[in-house]
Amino acid sequence: MKKSVLFSDFTIVTSHDDGKATISEHSYCAVHDGKIEYVGSSKEDAVKILTNLCGGSFEEYDGKNRILAPTFANAHAHTPMSIFRNIADDLALQDWLFGQIIPREDRMIAEDFEYGHLLTLAEMIESGTACAANMYDGARITTKASVDAGFRVQQTIMGKKCEDGKWSVDRDDVVDFQAFLKETGSALITPSLLVHSVYLYPGDFYVPLAELAKEFNLPVSVHISETLVENENCLKDYGCTPVEKLDASGLLNEHTVAAHCVHLTAKDRSILANRKVWVAHNPSSNMKLASGFADMPEMQKDGVRLCIGTDGAASNNNQDMFMEMRLASFMAKGTKLDPTVLNASDVFHMATRNGYLACGFEDCGLIEEGMRADLQIIDYDCPQMWPLGNALSALVYSCGPKCVESVMIDGQFVLYRHELTTIDMEKVTYFTRKTMERLK
Ligand SMILES: [Zn+2]
Repeated sequence: MKKSVLFSDFTIVTSHDDGKATISEHSYCAVHDGKIEYVGSSKEDAVKILTNLCGGSFEEYDGKNRILAPTFANAHAHTPMSIFRNIADDLALQDWLFGQIIPREDRMIAEDFEYGHLLTLAEMIESGTACAANMYDGARITTKASVDAGFRVQQTIMGKKCEDGKWSVDRDDVVDFQAFLKETGSALITPSLLVHSVYLYPGDFYVPLAELAKEFNLPVSVHISETLVENENCLKDYGCTPVEKLDASGLLNEHTVAAHCVHLTAKDRSILANRKVWVAHNPSSNMKLASGFADMPEMQKDGVRLCIGTDGAASNNNQDMFMEMRLASFMAKGTKLDPTVLNASDVFHMATRNGYLACGFEDCGLIEEGMRADLQIIDYDCPQMWPLGNALSALVYSCGPKCVESVMIDGQFVLYRHELTTIDMEKVTYFTRKTMERLK
């Protein structure tokens, strides 16, 4: 249920569209009908606005020792894959994917998609994330679960598996899913077209996919240059890099979200910058699968638009955006031998505002008047966060899920003082345990 709330006397940390974060102490934020109606230092003004809008029946949330921040938008995830957590580790990507994961995925049934997805949403909410790009099959099942949980998702349309084992998407799949989305009546879900990678489809498949995306004005979700093997095979098959192959097929534009981008040439970076592609950085997954270190500072210098993802829980093994922000910054500093690159403000902007924009939600990810109310409350009265010092540094470098006290999505508390309000964890635990036993 959407609530009218006065967030009272908080330390507000938010990024802005210039990419710079601000910290405002003793601040107030008024939320009504899912929208931020006031942000500033006057309690009187905030109360006046709320009284006009809802006749004074609002909750006052006390901000003593609390930070109010925008929630995270995870720009690359495979949400149902939490059912494969901790079962296939310490393997090379090709062995992991084709030897361990895909054979299990082939045996998944509807409830595996639903409860795997809900398990991930619960973990995401408890770690301050309110939005995710979900690149996975089972779109109808997971979309219904997302709407019921009150969670924002950019959901891929994946199509059908053909007899040769490859995936195919056609017009009917897109029309079907769009009609289904309309039926839900929810503004929390946006669709995108799945183009898995340059290695999963036949070579003549990419141009028709680009035409389909154009016809329906669909964003495209794709993995690019995750490993050196992918680049070598692409060079062998097509005589060019994965970025060049996808660009030549017409799949790269300002609505494309490209995960990984670990092994890029200078020309690749310039193509991604010119096409305004969103690059979703996945530091944990890239390190765990030994894919390498994506050169984010170089991409940033070249003007590539950057956001952050966790990848699936099978290759991470969690969905904690605090950890990804911290790793993104530390990985950049360590590999460039420069402690000034990818600073706290940069990674916070990538994890909040840019993630939402990449997922197609223009009016989310900032604490500013007129934005949708996707907010998290951090309790800094704990050893990990005390003494607070710089609140932005604390959020990026010290904070973790246990400090997240409440999460609001579109004006609805989905986590309220550490209690999930829209997901029944007992049910999720019961079904995911059954799934684990069947797919082990
Ligand atoms: Zn992925």
